[in-house]
Amino acid sequence: MSVVHYQLRIADLSSRMLAVTLRFTPQQAQHQLALPAWIPGSYMIRNFARHITQIRAYDVSGELSVEQLDKQSWQLSCRAQPVTVEYQVYANDLSVRAAYLDDEVAVLNPACLCLAVSGLTELAQQFALGDTCEYTKRVTENWRIATALPRLTGEPLSRYGTFQAADYQQLIDSPLIAGVFSLSEFQLDGVPHYVVVTGNNLFDEARLLEDVSKLCQAQRDVFGTLPEDLNQYWFLLLVTESGYGGLEHQFSTLLLCNRQDLPVPALAEQDEAYQTLLGLFSHEYFHTWWVKRLKPACFHPYQLDKEQYSRQLWIYEGFTSYFDDLALVKAGLISQTQYLKSLEKLITRVTRNPSEQIQSLTDSSFTAWTKFYLQDENAVNSIVSYYAKGALVALLLDAELQQHGNSLAELCRALYQQYLQTGTADESIFTLLNSWQLTALATDLKHWVNQAKPLPLAKHLSTLGVQLDWRSPQQFDDLCGTSNKTETASLGCSLKY
Ligand SMILES: [Zn+2]
Repeated sequence: MSVVHYQLRIADLSSRMLAVTLRFTPQQAQHQLALPAWIPGSYMIRNFARHITQIRAYDVSGELSVEQLDKQSWQLSCRAQPVTVEYQVYANDLSVRAAYLDDEVAVLNPACLCLAVSGLTELAQQFALGDTCEYTKRVTENWRIATALPRLTGEPLSRYGTFQAADYQQLIDSPLIAGVFSLSEFQLDGVPHYVVVTGNNLFDEARLLEDVSKLCQAQRDVFGTLPEDLNQYWFLLLVTESGYGGLEHQFSTLLLCNRQDLPVPALAEQDEAYQTLLGLFSHEYFHTWWVKRLKPACFHPYQLDKEQYSRQLWIYEGFTSYFDDLALVKAGLISQTQYLKSLEKLITRVTRNPSEQIQSLTDSSFTAWTKFYLQDENAVNSIVSYYAKGALVALLLDAELQQHGNSLAELCRALYQQYLQTGTADESIFTLLNSWQLTALATDLKHWVNQAKPLPLAKHLSTLGVQLDWRSPQQFDDLCGTSNKTETASLGCSLKY
């Protein structure tokens, strides 16, 4: 057997337990089995393996020794015959990066379900959902499966059949959603794009499809063409009572939203919740080029057993955060006034916090593992967001490039073409600006991202014809310009209980 095969079953629906059976033919006397410590795109040690229980291994001759080595790996002693490893995984993390199971949906990220077999990660990896007991079989009778993982056997969308990834990296970059969902499709440049929305929701499906399709065109226009290898794309939207987030993958994205974020039928104009949801679609789709294909050189290849540090997250998340809302206005989905309103909020969010003058964007990128992703009550004082301030840097850069007859979109295209194979080094963006004879701008950009200082927003916005006026907060939570409350005094601190 020249593949690694994972079969997943629902072991117990009420206790949210999944059972995994892993089969492979050993190529050496010992193999290590390990789960990633983190999932690309989410820069935090997740310790997925803590949810594994009851691991055992055997072959036709009997039990095999499986010894745990550390928090995420096991040593397996093998004989020269096919091995079966069985274990259970607790699936109760309703997020875009882990595993979740209830009687309506299963969210399956192979990164937290499929133990990698050392030495065999370059082999084809098969994934199948197996038969369950009579009860779960009945509960899941109407379930279908949506994923970008290529299907080897079975009907499209069927909950039965086998999927096959070219290697372990592709496997863990391909989340699956099993359950009841609606599915709609549009084509962009001949490439099918699917929009999957979990549950039975009353919403304007045609409108969502049309709006997402316009957003994708706007993002495609930034780069000129779709990525060469993109042959399909899946938006997998998990609808919940409360939650928000997204995680990018090479051929898909897993998104999480509130039921209220979906467009109700006959919605006259974008409400704020739907606008935010469209921004999320837009953000994750931009990542298809920007971090899923072009990425920092230090992520070539990903090393998922421990932290992998980059000083460039301000480029990859900041620029993405700039282009996500920009695509909304370019696609005609929001007005210029609505766009300026969201820009106002962004500027207020960045400039109201003392952290802007405490931490630089490159430092915020580098320490994402222990700071940005592990925020506590001191975060507002100490951590600058490489998303939010990174988006403002992108705005200034775009304004300045346009003064020189270029644009940020052109800069992104040039970086994409030049560094797709190798990845970008910390200096690449400055090198490119210098090669365009924009040395002063390269120097300014270095200051903006390496120094913990306010950005010269007013100066550069004025070149776009936008005037920036500052005013004091007039009400208690007026800090983001959205308050209707009437409190007149502020302690100047955030309280949570
Ligand atoms: Zn992002």
